[in-house]
Amino acid sequence: MMSIGVHAFPQNNTTNKSASVNVTEGIYRIKNFGCNTAVMTGDDGVLIIDTGVKAAELKTDSVIKTITNQPVRYILNTHFHLDHVGGNKELSDNGGVIVAQQNARQRMSTQWKVPTIAGMTYPVIPPYSAEYLPKVCFQDSIAIYFNNDTIQGIHFPNGHSDSDVIYFFRKANVIHAGDLFLSNGFPVIDIYYGGSIDGYIRAVDNIIRLCDERTIIIPGHGATSDRQGLVDYRNMLSAARAQIEKLIKEGKTLEEVIAADPTKDLFKGGKSWLPAPMFIDVVYKELSRN
Ligand SMILES: [Zn+2]
Repeated sequence: MMSIGVHAFPQNNTTNKSASVNVTEGIYRIKNFGCNTAVMTGDDGVLIIDTGVKAAELKTDSVIKTITNQPVRYILNTHFHLDHVGGNKELSDNGGVIVAQQNARQRMSTQWKVPTIAGMTYPVIPPYSAEYLPKVCFQDSIAIYFNNDTIQGIHFPNGHSDSDVIYFFRKANVIHAGDLFLSNGFPVIDIYYGGSIDGYIRAVDNIIRLCDERTIIIPGHGATSDRQGLVDYRNMLSAARAQIEKLIKEGKTLEEVIAADPTKDLFKGGKSWLPAPMFIDVVYKELSRN
Protein backbone atom coordinates (compact mmCIF):
# COMPACT_ATOMS: atom_id res chain seq x y z
CA MET A 1 0.00 0.00 0.00
CA MET A 2 2.98 2.30 0.40
CA SER A 3 5.81 3.06 -1.93
CA ILE A 4 8.79 5.17 -1.07
CA GLY A 5 7.86 8.77 -0.48
CA VAL A 6 4.47 8.51 -2.14
CA HIS A 7 1.19 7.61 -0.55
CA ALA A 8 -0.24 5.06 -2.95
CA PHE A 9 -3.93 4.30 -2.60
CA PRO A 10 -4.59 0.61 -2.10
CA GLN A 11 -5.54 -1.54 -5.04
CA ASN A 12 -4.56 -4.94 -6.31
CA ASN A 13 -5.29 -7.45 -9.01
CA THR A 14 -8.00 -9.43 -7.31
CA THR A 15 -10.09 -11.28 -9.84
CA ASN A 16 -13.69 -10.29 -10.38
CA LYS A 17 -14.90 -13.53 -8.87
CA SER A 18 -13.51 -12.79 -5.41
CA ALA A 19 -13.94 -9.03 -5.53
CA SER A 20 -17.54 -8.90 -4.31
CA VAL A 21 -18.95 -10.04 -0.99
CA ASN A 22 -22.64 -10.42 -0.22
CA VAL A 23 -23.45 -8.22 2.81
CA THR A 24 -27.16 -8.93 3.11
CA GLU A 25 -30.01 -9.65 0.71
CA GLY A 26 -29.60 -7.36 -2.31
CA ILE A 27 -26.52 -5.53 -0.99
CA TYR A 28 -22.92 -6.36 -1.87
CA ARG A 29 -19.50 -4.94 -1.05
CA ILE A 30 -16.89 -4.67 -3.78
CA LYS A 31 -13.43 -4.48 -2.28
CA ASN A 32 -9.89 -3.85 -3.46
CA PHE A 33 -10.52 -1.19 -6.11
CA GLY A 34 -9.39 1.64 -3.88
CA CYS A 35 -12.25 1.69 -1.38
CA ASN A 36 -15.30 -0.30 -0.40
CA THR A 37 -18.00 0.09 -3.04
CA ALA A 38 -21.52 -0.86 -1.91
CA VAL A 39 -23.87 -2.24 -4.57
CA MET A 40 -27.62 -2.45 -4.03
CA THR A 41 -29.71 -4.36 -6.56
CA GLY A 42 -33.45 -4.79 -6.98
CA ASP A 43 -36.43 -4.16 -9.23
CA ASP A 44 -35.63 -0.45 -9.61
CA GLY A 45 -32.07 -1.13 -10.76
CA VAL A 46 -28.65 -0.63 -9.18
CA LEU A 47 -27.51 1.93 -6.66
CA ILE A 48 -23.83 2.08 -5.79
CA ILE A 49 -21.89 3.93 -3.12
CA ASP A 50 -18.36 5.11 -3.97
CA THR A 51 -16.52 4.19 -7.13
CA GLY A 52 -12.88 3.48 -6.20
CA VAL A 53 -9.74 4.76 -7.90
CA LYS A 54 -9.79 5.79 -11.54
CA ALA A 55 -7.46 3.00 -12.65
CA ALA A 56 -10.02 0.42 -11.50
CA GLU A 57 -13.21 1.88 -12.96
CA LEU A 58 -13.60 -0.79 -15.66
CA LYS A 59 -12.98 -3.54 -13.13
CA THR A 60 -15.61 -2.11 -10.80
CA ASP A 61 -18.06 -2.02 -13.69
CA SER A 62 -17.36 -5.63 -14.63
CA VAL A 63 -17.75 -6.82 -11.03
CA ILE A 64 -21.17 -5.16 -10.87
CA LYS A 65 -22.09 -7.11 -14.02
CA THR A 66 -21.20 -10.37 -12.24
CA ILE A 67 -23.86 -9.44 -9.66
CA THR A 68 -26.61 -8.07 -11.93
CA ASN A 69 -27.35 -6.85 -15.44
CA GLN A 70 -29.69 -4.16 -14.15
CA PRO A 71 -28.68 -0.57 -15.05
CA VAL A 72 -26.88 1.68 -12.57
CA ARG A 73 -29.41 4.39 -11.58
CA TYR A 74 -27.63 6.16 -8.71
CA ILE A 75 -23.98 6.68 -7.80
CA LEU A 76 -23.61 8.04 -4.27
CA ASN A 77 -20.26 9.46 -3.12
CA THR A 78 -19.35 9.53 0.59
CA HIS A 79 -16.81 12.36 0.02
CA PHE A 80 -14.54 13.86 -2.61
CA HIS A 81 -11.29 11.88 -2.20
CA LEU A 82 -9.77 10.31 -5.31
CA ASP A 83 -10.10 6.74 -4.05
CA HIS A 84 -13.91 7.13 -3.76
CA VAL A 85 -14.85 9.02 -6.94
CA GLY A 86 -12.47 7.67 -9.61
CA GLY A 87 -15.11 5.54 -11.34
CA ASN A 88 -17.83 8.21 -11.34
CA LYS A 89 -17.63 8.88 -15.06
CA GLU A 90 -17.50 5.28 -16.25
CA LEU A 91 -20.27 4.14 -13.93
CA SER A 92 -22.59 7.05 -14.77
CA ASP A 93 -22.08 6.80 -18.55
CA ASN A 94 -25.42 5.02 -19.02
CA GLY A 95 -27.44 7.65 -17.23
CA GLY A 96 -26.77 7.02 -13.54
CA VAL A 97 -27.15 10.12 -11.38
CA ILE A 98 -24.18 11.06 -9.19
CA VAL A 99 -25.17 12.30 -5.71
CA ALA A 100 -22.95 13.85 -3.00
CA GLN A 101 -22.76 16.51 -0.34
CA GLN A 102 -22.36 20.03 -1.70
CA ASN A 103 -18.75 20.43 -0.51
CA ALA A 104 -17.70 17.29 -2.39
CA ARG A 105 -18.70 18.85 -5.70
CA GLN A 106 -16.92 22.05 -4.73
CA ARG A 107 -13.72 20.18 -3.78
CA MET A 108 -13.79 18.05 -6.94
CA SER A 109 -14.02 21.21 -9.03
CA THR A 110 -10.67 22.47 -7.74
CA GLN A 111 -7.17 21.03 -7.36
CA TRP A 112 -6.56 18.74 -4.36
CA LYS A 113 -3.14 19.20 -2.83
CA VAL A 114 -2.01 18.35 0.66
CA PRO A 115 1.40 19.04 2.20
CA THR A 116 3.94 16.35 3.04
CA ILE A 117 2.77 14.40 6.09
CA ALA A 118 5.40 12.65 8.22
CA GLY A 119 7.67 12.43 5.17
CA MET A 120 4.99 11.08 2.84
CA THR A 121 3.79 13.11 -0.12
CA TYR A 122 0.39 12.80 -1.73
CA PRO A 123 -0.16 13.22 -5.46
CA VAL A 124 -1.67 16.51 -6.60
CA ILE A 125 -5.09 15.80 -8.08
CA PRO A 126 -6.22 18.23 -10.77
CA PRO A 127 -9.87 19.36 -10.95
CA TYR A 128 -12.23 16.68 -12.25
CA SER A 129 -14.02 17.12 -15.56
CA ALA A 130 -17.78 17.65 -15.52
CA GLU A 131 -18.60 13.96 -16.14
CA TYR A 132 -17.15 13.05 -12.74
CA LEU A 133 -18.96 15.71 -10.72
CA PRO A 134 -22.00 15.05 -8.53
CA LYS A 135 -25.17 16.30 -10.26
CA VAL A 136 -27.51 16.19 -7.26
CA CYS A 137 -26.05 17.79 -4.14
CA PHE A 138 -27.39 18.40 -0.65
CA GLN A 139 -26.30 20.22 2.47
CA ASP A 140 -27.33 18.20 5.54
CA SER A 141 -29.29 15.15 4.44
CA ILE A 142 -31.09 13.42 1.59
CA ALA A 143 -33.50 10.49 1.28
CA ILE A 144 -33.59 8.25 -1.79
CA TYR A 145 -36.56 5.88 -2.09
CA PHE A 146 -35.29 2.96 -4.13
CA ASN A 147 -35.73 -0.81 -4.32
CA ASN A 148 -38.34 -0.76 -1.57
CA ASP A 149 -35.91 0.76 0.91
CA THR A 150 -35.02 4.30 2.04
CA ILE A 151 -31.39 5.25 1.62
CA GLN A 152 -30.70 8.17 3.91
CA GLY A 153 -27.58 10.29 3.36
CA ILE A 154 -26.43 12.23 6.42
CA HIS A 155 -23.64 14.83 6.39
CA PHE A 156 -21.21 14.89 9.31
CA PRO A 157 -19.23 18.13 9.10
CA ASN A 158 -15.51 18.46 9.73
CA GLY A 159 -14.65 14.82 10.41
CA HIS A 160 -12.47 13.08 7.85
CA SER A 161 -12.93 16.11 5.53
CA ASP A 162 -15.67 18.73 5.19
CA SER A 163 -17.77 16.64 2.77
CA ASP A 164 -18.39 13.35 4.58
CA VAL A 165 -21.70 11.57 4.27
CA ILE A 166 -22.81 8.21 5.59
CA TYR A 167 -25.53 6.35 3.70
CA PHE A 168 -28.01 4.37 5.78
CA PHE A 169 -30.17 1.67 4.13
CA ARG A 170 -32.96 1.93 6.71
CA LYS A 171 -34.82 -1.27 5.93
CA ALA A 172 -31.76 -3.44 5.26
CA ASN A 173 -30.12 -1.90 8.37
CA VAL A 174 -26.80 -1.39 6.60
CA ILE A 175 -24.62 1.73 6.81
CA HIS A 176 -21.82 2.71 4.43
CA ALA A 177 -19.74 4.97 6.68
CA GLY A 178 -17.29 6.23 4.06
CA ASP A 179 -13.97 7.25 5.59
CA LEU A 180 -15.58 8.11 8.94
CA PHE A 181 -14.72 4.53 9.82
CA LEU A 182 -11.85 2.34 8.60
CA SER A 183 -11.72 -1.17 10.00
CA ASN A 184 -8.14 -1.62 8.80
CA GLY A 185 -6.35 1.00 10.85
CA PHE A 186 -5.91 4.65 11.78
CA PRO A 187 -7.96 7.15 9.78
CA VAL A 188 -6.67 9.82 7.47
CA ILE A 189 -7.85 13.14 8.89
CA ASP A 190 -7.73 15.64 6.05
CA ILE A 191 -7.15 18.74 8.20
CA TYR A 192 -6.24 20.74 5.09
CA TYR A 193 -9.74 20.18 3.64
CA GLY A 194 -11.93 20.65 6.68
CA GLY A 195 -11.26 17.47 8.69
CA SER A 196 -10.61 17.43 12.45
CA ILE A 197 -10.01 14.81 15.13
CA ASP A 198 -12.78 16.16 17.37
CA GLY A 199 -15.26 16.32 14.49
CA TYR A 200 -14.26 12.79 13.53
CA ILE A 201 -14.86 11.44 17.06
CA ARG A 202 -18.18 13.32 17.21
CA ALA A 203 -19.22 11.78 13.89
CA VAL A 204 -18.39 8.25 15.05
CA ASP A 205 -20.39 8.89 18.24
CA ASN A 206 -23.38 9.97 16.19
CA ILE A 207 -23.13 7.00 13.83
CA ILE A 208 -23.09 4.68 16.88
CA ARG A 209 -26.37 6.27 18.01
CA LEU A 210 -27.99 5.33 14.68
CA CYS A 211 -27.06 1.65 15.06
CA ASP A 212 -28.61 -1.24 16.85
CA GLU A 213 -27.01 -4.60 17.58
CA ARG A 214 -27.80 -5.93 14.12
CA THR A 215 -26.66 -2.98 12.00
CA ILE A 216 -24.04 -3.93 9.42
CA ILE A 217 -21.37 -1.27 8.87
CA ILE A 218 -19.44 -1.08 5.61
CA PRO A 219 -16.37 1.04 6.35
CA GLY A 220 -14.60 3.18 3.74
CA HIS A 221 -11.78 0.63 3.80
CA GLY A 222 -11.42 -2.78 5.44
CA ALA A 223 -13.77 -5.61 6.32
CA THR A 224 -17.46 -5.21 7.14
CA SER A 225 -18.06 -4.48 10.83
CA ASP A 226 -20.79 -3.68 13.34
CA ARG A 227 -21.79 -1.35 16.18
CA GLN A 228 -19.18 -2.83 18.53
CA GLY A 229 -16.51 -2.26 15.89
CA LEU A 230 -17.49 1.41 15.80
CA VAL A 231 -17.45 1.66 19.60
CA ASP A 232 -13.94 0.17 19.67
CA TYR A 233 -12.84 2.60 16.95
CA ARG A 234 -14.22 5.56 18.84
CA ASN A 235 -12.40 4.49 22.01
CA MET A 236 -9.16 4.04 20.09
CA LEU A 237 -9.45 7.53 18.60
CA SER A 238 -10.17 9.26 21.88
CA ALA A 239 -7.33 7.41 23.63
CA ALA A 240 -4.93 8.42 20.84
CA ARG A 241 -6.11 12.02 20.98
CA ALA A 242 -5.59 12.15 24.77
CA GLN A 243 -2.08 10.68 24.51
CA ILE A 244 -1.01 13.13 21.82
CA GLU A 245 -2.51 16.12 23.65
CA LYS A 246 -0.72 15.15 26.86
CA LEU A 247 2.66 15.17 25.08
CA ILE A 248 1.87 18.52 23.41
CA LYS A 249 1.12 20.00 26.85
CA GLU A 250 4.49 18.72 28.03
CA GLY A 251 6.06 20.84 25.29
CA LYS A 252 7.16 17.97 23.04
CA THR A 253 7.95 18.64 19.37
CA LEU A 254 6.23 16.64 16.62
CA GLU A 255 9.39 14.54 16.16
CA GLU A 256 9.50 13.79 19.89
CA VAL A 257 5.83 12.83 19.94
CA ILE A 258 6.26 10.48 16.98
CA ALA A 259 9.32 8.96 18.65
CA ALA A 260 7.34 8.43 21.88
CA ASP A 261 4.93 6.21 19.87
CA PRO A 262 1.80 7.34 21.76
CA THR A 263 -0.59 5.21 19.67
CA LYS A 264 1.36 1.99 20.22
CA ASP A 265 -0.96 -0.99 20.78
CA LEU A 266 -4.09 1.20 20.48
CA PHE A 267 -5.29 -0.27 17.18
CA LYS A 268 -6.32 -3.87 17.90
CA GLY A 269 -7.19 -4.99 14.38
CA GLY A 270 -3.71 -6.03 13.23
CA LYS A 271 -1.22 -3.82 11.43
CA SER A 272 -2.73 -0.43 10.57
CA TRP A 273 -2.78 0.31 6.83
CA LEU A 274 -1.82 3.91 7.67
CA PRO A 275 1.53 4.19 9.46
CA ALA A 276 0.99 5.70 12.93
CA PRO A 277 3.34 8.69 12.29
CA MET A 278 1.02 9.92 9.51
CA PHE A 279 -1.95 9.85 11.89
CA ILE A 280 0.04 11.46 14.72
CA ASP A 281 1.37 14.20 12.41
CA VAL A 282 -2.04 15.64 11.54
CA VAL A 283 -3.52 15.25 15.02
CA TYR A 284 -0.46 16.99 16.49
CA LYS A 285 -0.69 19.85 13.99
CA GLU A 286 -4.40 20.29 14.59
CA LEU A 287 -4.24 20.19 18.40
CA SER A 288 -1.16 22.41 18.64
CA ARG A 289 -2.70 25.15 16.51
CA ASN A 290 -5.67 25.55 18.87
ZN1 LIG B 1 -11.00 9.78 2.14
